[in-house]
Amino acid sequence: MRRKIAYGLAAVVAVMLAVWWAWEWLPPAPPGPSAVAADAPKGPPKVRTPFRNYWGQTPLADMERQGTKYPHTVFLEGPKHRRWVALTFDDGPSEYTSSLLDVLKKHGVKATFFMMGTQMDLRPWAVQRAWREGHMLGNHTYTHPHLSELDPTYFWDEEIGKTQGIFKRIVGFEPKIMRPPYGEISDSEIEDLDRRGLKVIQWSLDTQDWYRNRMLFGAHNIERATQEATHEEAIILMHDGGGKRYKTVEAVDKLIPWLKAGGYEFVTVDQMLGLPKQPRPG
Ligand SMILES: [Zn+2]
Repeated sequence: MRRKIAYGLAAVVAVMLAVWWAWEWLPPAPPGPSAVAADAPKGPPKVRTPFRNYWGQTPLADMERQGTKYPHTVFLEGPKHRRWVALTFDDGPSEYTSSLLDVLKKHGVKATFFMMGTQMDLRPWAVQRAWREGHMLGNHTYTHPHLSELDPTYFWDEEIGKTQGIFKRIVGFEPKIMRPPYGEISDSEIEDLDRRGLKVIQWSLDTQDWYRNRMLFGAHNIERATQEATHEEAIILMHDGGGKRYKTVEAVDKLIPWLKAGGYEFVTVDQMLGLPKQPRPG
């Protein structure tokens, strides 16, 4: 009798585990057809992933307010419903950038890299390679500060302008796009960048790989977080620097075929937003 109960319990547990496993690990179907016409305009710019109050991230409402106030300078996502996504990678180049570039090359995907001056000084060849392989380059400051706390001269001379100079030295041109660390930038800094012809590129889908890559099954969690929030003309935030990023690289390798199966195309930020093209390698 007791043995029967034990077998019964074991069977119930096994079934529950199988259901959990299937629920958690079987890949979801690729996104279905859109309900909205591709050229229908979106409403005010939005971040479509939840806020995680960690590492000084800027409140999403501030990003959305600035995207609405400066529609020609600050961008969170693409303006319409074309089935496009832009993968963006921050804080590199790092020791993970080469393997990420290998994965992107394998899938024939172009992405956008927001690089830090200090990192570019360490790995100029990675900056060169990303550019030669058709990826778009953007400025992510020299040292990754909270920009809104800086005085205007320091903001340009020691962070943004300094990094522009490093780009000029390594690839021969200065990018026309930047991303503020933590999404944090003041209105007056946005106006300064606008006068200098620089666009501020935020994001609409935060994969939170900066948080999830420290979890068990981190790559899987990055993948799922992206799948659950996939939307048309998403600007997707990921990181190839600033920590251990092999889980991000692994997630990207799996996400690209999933998005392609759902009819998504991968574009760089200039294409999505209709910005001028960066110079091509000669
Ligand atoms: Zn960053």
